Amino acid sequence: MIRILFMILALVTTVAAPVSAAEDDGALAPAEVKAVRVGNSADRFRLVVDVDREIDYDTMVLSNPGRIVINLHNARLGAFVEREMAPGGRFVSRIRMGQFDKTTVRIVLETEAAKDTFTIFPLTGGASPYRVVMDIGAGKGNAGNSTASGNVQKPADSDGGDSTSGDTDSKDTKETGDKEDKGKAEKPVDLPDIDLEEIELSSVLKGKKIVLDPGHGGEDPGAIGPTGVTEKSITLRVAETAQALLEEAGAKVIMTRTEDTEVSPKHRQATDIDELQARCDIANKAGADIFISIHMDSFVNRKAGGTTSYYYAKGSAASRKLAAAIQDAVVKEIGTESRGVKSCNFYVVRHTKMPAILLEVAFVSNPQEEKLLDSDIGVKHAAVGLARGIAAFFGG
Ligand SMILES: [Zn+2]
Repeated sequence: MIRILFMILALVTTVAAPVSAAEDDGALAPAEVKAVRVGNSADRFRLVVDVDREIDYDTMVLSNPGRIVINLHNARLGAFVEREMAPGGRFVSRIRMGQFDKTTVRIVLETEAAKDTFTIFPLTGGASPYRVVMDIGAGKGNAGNSTASGNVQKPADSDGGDSTSGDTDSKDTKETGDKEDKGKAEKPVDLPDIDLEEIELSSVLKGKKIVLDPGHGGEDPGAIGPTGVTEKSITLRVAETAQALLEEAGAKVIMTRTEDTEVSPKHRQATDIDELQARCDIANKAGADIFISIHMDSFVNRKAGGTTSYYYAKGSAASRKLAAAIQDAVVKEIGTESRGVKSCNFYVVRHTKMPAILLEVAFVSNPQEEKLLDSDIGVKHAAVGLARGIAAFFGG
């Protein structure tokens, strides 16, 4: 047993990571891992970890079965980060994310990729304050751009000067698929305008207590689209428009926020959990009939698009039914591809006591869908879809 352990340890390689200047202070609150994103191309896999500030990390390579382990130090895993992913492609079969101990977030990639075929490096600037990027496969992070390699791969012991990382960041953005997306991005939004006054909703909505939760807000913009449209702005517009429609039909609508602010009374000081719990508290205290959290999706590959409705995996059948009703109605109304009704472990649907769902209306990272949801017409259609889905859930 001890011998086997020793052999495993011998296979462990620790790669020194850049040391953050702010990190030597033990009193510093853990950084938050905001998102883990993946992208695949024929000859490369990329993992991007969005963190709210600079952190220290190391990696280990394990065999039997092959794994790459990334330890993010003095960090905690955000509530919205998926705990498991099957990224597809030929490099990585599965990715697991977890809070390994109080201050370490561990990401495990199941892969047979050899140690010399991956690189890991930090990026700053862009949509998130700090990113840890891992590339596996040919090209090592500069596929199709051989001149980039000197810039992209920072020496492990560099001091992390921001000027060079700023450069690499723009390359990173460029690599996320603009080439194929150009045509798509130019496509106009082709939904017809609608007069909300003419929308008739079922009378079953009368007296129903509905909580609408526009995702993100205040300091937290959520995802940011290619032209800078923020998730938090779209979610609020869709929610407010749906609120008007539902109230017109006699429902009692409770909004978790009506402005660009945090929901938690702690405002800027709120942790992610404070913020999410505050949204659940509103719904639980109100004794709402249903809870709907509105979000926009985002992915490193800008071609990704479509609508998804999530319900808590261990939640009620009613939550699943609500998700299905809303998914149907929203997709019908805004013409997006349906990515399906999925179970999840998101905080807000787990900690609310009534049927609860989280709707990802469309992808703000997709230029066409960003444009759609940044337009009045797109917002109106999304809100109509949402309201119709709610009515259908109640039997209308
Ligand atoms: Zn979101």
